[in-house]
Amino acid sequence: GIMTKYMEKSITELHELLTKGEVTSEELIKESLEKSHEVQAKYNAFVTILDEAKPTNVTDNLLSGIPYGIKDNYSTKGILSTGSSNTLKDYVPFFTATAIENLEKSGAVATNKTVLDEFGMGGTGTTGHTGVVRNPWDRERMCAGSSAGSACAVAAGVYPYATGSDTGDSIRKPAAYCGIVGYKPTYGMISRYGLFAYASSLDTCGVLTRNVEDAAIVVDNMKGIDKNDMTSWDSSSINLHKSLDGQVKGKKLCYVKELCDIENYPNATNELKEHLSNFHNVLEKIKELGIEIEAVSVDKTLLNAQPSVYDVISYAEATSNMSNLTGLIFGPRGEGKNYEEMMKDYRTKNFSSLIKRRFVIGSYVLQADNKDKYFHNAQRVRRLLVDTWNNLFDKYDAVILPVETGPARYLDESKNIIDKDTRVLKEHLQIANFGGFPSITIPDGFINNLPVALNITGKCYDDANILNIAYAIEGTMNYKNQIAKEVSHD
Ligand code: GLN
Repeated sequence: GIMTKYMEKSITELHELLTKGEVTSEELIKESLEKSHEVQAKYNAFVTILDEAKPTNVTDNLLSGIPYGIKDNYSTKGILSTGSSNTLKDYVPFFTATAIENLEKSGAVATNKTVLDEFGMGGTGTTGHTGVVRNPWDRERMCAGSSAGSACAVAAGVYPYATGSDTGDSIRKPAAYCGIVGYKPTYGMISRYGLFAYASSLDTCGVLTRNVEDAAIVVDNMKGIDKNDMTSWDSSSINLHKSLDGQVKGKKLCYVKELCDIENYPNATNELKEHLSNFHNVLEKIKELGIEIEAVSVDKTLLNAQPSVYDVISYAEATSNMSNLTGLIFGPRGEGKNYEEMMKDYRTKNFSSLIKRRFVIGSYVLQADNKDKYFHNAQRVRRLLVDTWNNLFDKYDAVILPVETGPARYLDESKNIIDKDTRVLKEHLQIANFGGFPSITIPDGFINNLPVALNITGKCYDDANILNIAYAIEGTMNYKNQIAKEVSHD
């Protein structure tokens, strides 16, 4: 018979089929596992495929019985959890991250653990210890990162959603490169307990899906206050899914001229020109919903400081957080005559050079003599940026901006034409992490048959409003529920 691709359907569609008895959880798991093996062979998206996954009862929870993927920096009890790092290549936790436990309680069934950039550090999907993740739209291109495997798998139709984590843009950028939706909720809405720490003041759990409604459903089930994460907060009065009513008339958005207008990029490539002109065309369509959109101006010096501020703060926090990786408690033991030698051997051998470079810089900016000049100044500029965005949120529901400079970059960096003056355009999603703001990326067009995206970021705790705006905007375009169609290189 004709093979129905259930795993290309949305959560609500699957729930209806399960409830009506037209398909079973067992059949969905089988399809998801088969597809996992196919996607693994083609794109290398997984650290582990959970061939033993067991069906669950179908209840009135929308996630019950439905497969999903877990980024491999979430601890899963009894299941290998590597953070895509050689330092933890054999680590099997004895407890499960709260966010995953919450999904399990909903009846969700994990079918694999997905590859990331080592410990979430990086934006290419190429630095995990199991190798490069390829983009399902074009295998010569990257998925971006760090949630590379999750983005790849959702876009390729392995299941309707996978968890991600986002310290700078790690959910939203791979979502953009893979033509899907990436949602980073307000900081602390989802417990970080059991998520491998990268930079604690920025780290956020979230999800990658193929439509906004699914993102709302999944985060409703992941979120909640947790005694094991003191930055988590009580969101029990918020129901993201029920709040999606598409009523957006009179909402106000703004975009930042310095980032969006082509005259700021005198060396723009054709790709960038197309991307920004598409963005402005989409803004016109959004206005037809009765949403007002205004251009605002942000001080260029402040904007230009943004990527370095992220680097200083995230590297400093990373070097401190990851000092627990000694090889003495977990991970493959290093060699040496005493514990210092063993630690040194383990860390030298097992961390990639990208991470070691970040640790060196992180330690440097934290040294007593440098701390005020680098770390504290970065904190001050972080505050200025957050205040600037919060001032925008006094007047506007959200800031809308293009993601990146165009579609997915080539894995072979020598093939990528790097525009000058685009550093902030590439990194600005990090501002949402500076402020803990809810932020969602949705596909908004195609350039050379490859997806591009826009991002919407709002004020803290305003997730329902932000998702509703994204939901309405998604409805004006034809990029909902996209499955990657691979371009040919013949
Ligand atoms: N690319 C950024 C970094 O390298 C963001 C990563 C993330 O959000 N985890 O740190």
